[in-house]
Amino acid sequence: MSDKKVRVRFAPSPTGGLHLGGVRTVLFNYLFAKQHKGDFVLRIEDTDQSRYVKGAEEYILECLEWCGLAPDESPVAGGHYAPYRQSERKSIYREYAERLVGQGHAYYAFDTPEELERNRQEIPNFQYGHAYRDTLRNSLSMPLHEVQQLIDAGEPHVIRIKMPENEHIHFEDMIRGHVSFDTSQSDDKVLLKADGMPTYHLAVVVDDYLMKITHAFRGEEWLPSAPVHLLLWEYLGWKADMPQWAHLPLILKPDGHGKLSKRDGARLGFPVYAMNWFDEKTGELTPGFRELGFLPEAFLNLLVMLGWNDGTHNEIFTLDELIEKFSIERVNKAGAKFDFEKAKWFNAEWIKRSNGGRLKPDILKVLTDKGVQVKDDDYLLTVINLVKERCALLPDFYQQSSYFFEQPKEYDLNAVKPKWTDAKTDFYKALLIMLSYSEVSIEAITFEEQFKKLAEEKAIKAGELMLPFRIMLVGGKFGPHVFDIAALLGKQETISRIQKALVEFTS
Ligand code: GLU
Repeated sequence: MSDKKVRVRFAPSPTGGLHLGGVRTVLFNYLFAKQHKGDFVLRIEDTDQSRYVKGAEEYILECLEWCGLAPDESPVAGGHYAPYRQSERKSIYREYAERLVGQGHAYYAFDTPEELERNRQEIPNFQYGHAYRDTLRNSLSMPLHEVQQLIDAGEPHVIRIKMPENEHIHFEDMIRGHVSFDTSQSDDKVLLKADGMPTYHLAVVVDDYLMKITHAFRGEEWLPSAPVHLLLWEYLGWKADMPQWAHLPLILKPDGHGKLSKRDGARLGFPVYAMNWFDEKTGELTPGFRELGFLPEAFLNLLVMLGWNDGTHNEIFTLDELIEKFSIERVNKAGAKFDFEKAKWFNAEWIKRSNGGRLKPDILKVLTDKGVQVKDDDYLLTVINLVKERCALLPDFYQQSSYFFEQPKEYDLNAVKPKWTDAKTDFYKALLIMLSYSEVSIEAITFEEQFKKLAEEKAIKAGELMLPFRIMLVGGKFGPHVFDIAALLGKQETISRIQKALVEFTS
């Protein structure tokens, strides 16, 4: 690698919510930059005003913040190469488009949208390129003075690249190795639009050059655009500064057939976007991983494993470990199948490994959103540590822990009543007396011993008493060790729950 400072960019178009593949692109960029002590730039590619969606840029920024992947330079953070929004750089691009026209690598085209539409209708597989360009209204087919007249008269026109015929161009992709193209396949892409805005193709090359980008990681869907970009780098005389490209493999549907789309998520019942996205036009809400209850650490971890591994069987990595271990050479060429169960497994692992303090703000929100009142921070921490192994998604904490804060509203009576006996009533009454009038400790081990001793005295198998006891405290057949629950609830609360449940069980 050259000794130039590494500079990478994530260059999204603000057209809607961010697909998980987009966040993976951010992550790979970020890891590479941090590993090489380089800069990570966020550039908003908003030159296609017809596709611009309000709120999309804010969404992207929020998403990067949630993931902890802060850009070093961005429209918000600023930076030496500002502005970072292409629409604000509009005046920069014309010069380069005109330079290409002057060199004969691009030309003015005056065809109206209606004329182009007619051609598309009438000519099968119509492409604005070497096969037809001479028959269309442009500065290659028309005499110079006519072209000048039209321009002087302010006739709307675009600038198109003149793709060479039958040229083979190639480059070395960091993931795919040698990639070659036949330039005849590509049409003469528009570089500058009639309103003076550049298209993506021109803007991405000019900005990567001006912003001194050294490496460009982007989705595989951009590979077909690479020949146009390569030619632009060459024609503009910047070839020596062209970034190294890496086209990242697609994230595939669970069955491996095709790219995972937003619709697949809706069909199969899992999120495909990083965070909830609300489309104001259609009123449609596309669910996100964040709102479903994924930790950002887990989200990044599952994304990096879609197409990369460190060469061992390790699957759990922190961001710092990834910065150290990531290598673009170990990114697979083939697409990676998305498996939602596996995604949840990552989250469960991260919940399990995170300490109570890390989880506390998230869990507090889960509980308070559900109307649960949490008064004591230390108590909440103990509860989190006790139940976290049972939670795969953050909202699972509600079911798994709300009973620590409020008495069960309902009991799983079907699990208790059919096997209820007077002897059991008798046992729990005796247990109540024991708890209320003796000095017996509610500490888990001591209390368990006492409980079993009492069962023995009453000649009932302790095993048959455990499930009803759990349902008295929790309401259902779940939760950690029942004596741990009792210990945490405390003596008074345990007594109160036994009393209340006993009424329900025996009525
Ligand atoms: N603006 C393009 C997008 O929306 C960026 C592609 C690239 O990174 O070159 O994905």
